[in-house]
Amino acid sequence: MTPPSKKIVLGALSITSFVLSTFFLYNLPPDHILASPFYLTAAGTLIFSYNIVIIFAWLAFGAAFGLAVAVLSAVFVLLLNLRTGLTGYSVFTLPFFFTAFLGFLCQRSRDKLNDSYRLKLEKLGEDINVLSNDIEETRKGIFSVEEKLKRYAALKEVIDSFSTQLLLDDITKLIMEKTSKTLAKPGRILLFLVDTEKQELMLSASQGARRVAAKKGDLFDRWVLKNRKSLIIEDIVTDFRFSTDSHGELKKIFRSLIATPLVSGDKIIGILRMDSPREFLYSQDDLRLLDIIADLSAVSIDNAFLYARTQELAIRDSLTGLAVRRYFLERLQEEVKRTAMKKSQMSLLMLDIDHFKVYNDQFGHAAGDIILKHLARTMNAMIKEGDIVARYGGEEIVIMLCGRAKIDGIVEAEAIRKAVKESPVTLRRHTADVTVSIGIAGYPEDAPSAEGLIRIADERLYKAKAGGRDRVCPA
Ligand code: GH3
Ligand code: MG
Ligand code: MG
Repeated sequence: MTPPSKKIVLGALSITSFVLSTFFLYNLPPDHILASPFYLTAAGTLIFSYNIVIIFAWLAFGAAFGLAVAVLSAVFVLLLNLRTGLTGYSVFTLPFFFTAFLGFLCQRSRDKLNDSYRLKLEKLGEDINVLSNDIEETRKGIFSVEEKLKRYAALKEVIDSFSTQLLLDDITKLIMEKTSKTLAKPGRILLFLVDTEKQELMLSASQGARRVAAKKGDLFDRWVLKNRKSLIIEDIVTDFRFSTDSHGELKKIFRSLIATPLVSGDKIIGILRMDSPREFLYSQDDLRLLDIIADLSAVSIDNAFLYARTQELAIRDSLTGLAVRRYFLERLQEEVKRTAMKKSQMSLLMLDIDHFKVYNDQFGHAAGDIILKHLARTMNAMIKEGDIVARYGGEEIVIMLCGRAKIDGIVEAEAIRKAVKESPVTLRRHTADVTVSIGIAGYPEDAPSAEGLIRIADERLYKAKAGGRDRVCPA
């Protein structure tokens, strides 16, 4: 049990002594009191001490208690006065009584004032809170506007840089670089392009990935491809749209991702995707930005395809698909220089269809075209990577065998001659046994220049014709 506080003990003691003394004086005969200076002094002291008790009660227990004691003491003093006739003494009590009463009023109004101040303070506090929330919101707003401005500036940069690129390799590099800079978020960036022949995704470029295992995309990429929609996954573990079986391995590599299709016309030509091992990393804002970059990328990639196709058309013969004469001659010049520098060897084959006019005359020009196409296919199937086959003239074909000596050229020429002979062409239910004659020139033994090689090969082709056709002439 905790001991009572000093205040309470003192309060109890004074009130007890005060009640006892009053009771004692009250019970004395008035004559006795008036006749004795001692009792007179005691009565005076007692009346005076009421005031002390009032002050004490007020200080110790508050104004209301002080007032109660004051009223009580006023009653006692009145009773004592009535009994003893010591009215003069009661004058002492009055100022204290009024002081207590005024104190009580003061206290009450102070409490009221305090209450209203407290309310005002609370209101002010609330206002400050509301204001600081507003400031915080405004600051966030400013920050997000600044972020948006930064992102739009970055997007403008993307548009500018994309518009100057025509080569697919440069564009894919740019897509990686600009996606990383514009989104400014950690994680892998993957670009898949659709292989139109196989109708499947193929990884074209990546950034931030040591090794990409799913080169043909994973279930999320296939989802984007199938649904033709952008995808945001905050956490693959909790996303109900995808089966939980696949999470085991995948969640070691990434937890959140955004992916969007690259659309050209009504076709999807690829997928641009970002993922991270951190869950809840990407926002809808990020996805919107990725969408814009993907749209710009799709246009650029389309342009690159178109450019490559134009380039290809410029160097390809439209009937046979073989290289054109101008391109061949340029490459031959380069190759001779390169071979000379490397002190290596190379050979040139010039081929002409035997009695081609006959097929044209007998079966028509279209049939002649079929023979030309057939021949082109046979050549393309036989040459090695790096070699070039070109349509040199009407039905004359040239073949550049890079890094291969004349002796290898002769073997190759014989193989071609045989292959053509052994693959007859069917023309309007007739079988045409097409044969070719081939002239060969070797570098460096036959000529030191591209022009020289062409001239020598041409001369030897005529030699082959003169020799009876369907043959190879190497000297
Ligand atoms: P040779 O054995 O001496 O070479 O006899 P040839 O009949 O083949 O004679 P030549 O090489 O001079 O004939 C070329 C012919 O090729 C002439 C032309 O009508 C035909 N020709 C050229 N370009 C084309 C073409 O694009 N399509 C078709 N169908 N014929 C072509
Ligand atoms: Mg001919
Ligand atoms: Mg000819």
